[in-house]
Amino acid sequence: LPPSERIGFAVMGLGRLTLGEILPAFLQGRLAKPVALISGRREKARSAGHAYGIGEDSLFTYDEIHKLADRPDIQAVYVVTPNALHAGQVEALAAAGKHVLCEKPMANSSADAKRMIEACHAAGVKLMVAYRCQYEPFNQLVRKLVQSGELGRPKLVEAINTQMQGNADQWRLKPELAGGGALPDIGLYCLNGTRSVLGEEPESLFAQMVSPPDDPRYKNLDETFSFMLRFPSGVIANCATSYGAHESKDLRIHLEKGWISLENAFAYTGHRLRIGRRQGDHKIVSEWHIPAENQFTLEIDHFAECILQNQPPRTSGEEGLRDQKLMEALYQSARTGQMIHL
Ligand code: NDP
Repeated sequence: LPPSERIGFAVMGLGRLTLGEILPAFLQGRLAKPVALISGRREKARSAGHAYGIGEDSLFTYDEIHKLADRPDIQAVYVVTPNALHAGQVEALAAAGKHVLCEKPMANSSADAKRMIEACHAAGVKLMVAYRCQYEPFNQLVRKLVQSGELGRPKLVEAINTQMQGNADQWRLKPELAGGGALPDIGLYCLNGTRSVLGEEPESLFAQMVSPPDDPRYKNLDETFSFMLRFPSGVIANCATSYGAHESKDLRIHLEKGWISLENAFAYTGHRLRIGRRQGDHKIVSEWHIPAENQFTLEIDHFAECILQNQPPRTSGEEGLRDQKLMEALYQSARTGQMIHL
């Protein structure tokens, strides 16, 4: 679309993700453009505004969300702030009549997630949760391959997302802002990715978590979290996440007639897709190459398209709510040692 017809977005929270990935991703898109910034720090907003052609009159603070109501050129807002703030901010944005694209995890509780969905519904605006991997071409191809039945029925899924977490000052290590430790931040990719690839909802789950007693950062948070999901079709998924292990972000699916391995499945770049299968008497492994694309751009354009065509987004608030409920059940299982039937 020509710039004048694209959906105008405000981006809220100018942290690492916004400055490093989201604002640059708009430049590669077709349907959306950044037209305003919402930030607690004027100088930072000014400098980002300068880089993206956003003027002083389009820089807002968090207290000024209501003023967006007078700005019809801002049709949607991308919320990229610490997790605990999402719920209140989404409610305020809905009240100002804005469509909302909200970063994951959607909220810190299923109760908050429900409030967000209701606020957007009441205001007649769309709500999408930024599950970028669902828009990423390699992950989409894996989903298609699994659901096509080409390799038979899936039996086992393995999903892992680990990365080292840094200093104690950051909001990610403060339970009141983060809502949990590794699980809601990075383990969520294993949960959402497994559900998405299988196209099924788990019927029971079991979890274990470890917080090393000698590391004060994890006094009230999970450093390492592992869980098993069982699905009605009989598939079992083993998922694991940790803030204390070197980075790996891999998804593997074992099916009747082959296996699918997506290395760096949950990363921004570096996806590597290999398929192992039997051909006649031989077992062969082939690597599949498809063009890599910026998944943030695809995700933002998807939401813009939903607004333009008045369609529901693929990763709606309800999709986020399902994960919030599952994460609550996972923590319950880890705390009690019980298997949970859903
Ligand atoms: P950062 O800490 O880098 O940035 C968060 C920004 O939020 C800050 O820069 C600040 O912006 C604003 N903010 C408002 N209130 C607070 C507060 N009380 N404490 C700290 N910051 C505050 O975080 P990220 O950018 O890494 O993460 C933001 C969100 O994006 C989270 O929900 C996270 O889970 C999600 N995320 C998603 C990723 C993905 O791949 N989809 C990857 C990384 C993060 P300002 O100074 O402008 O007010």
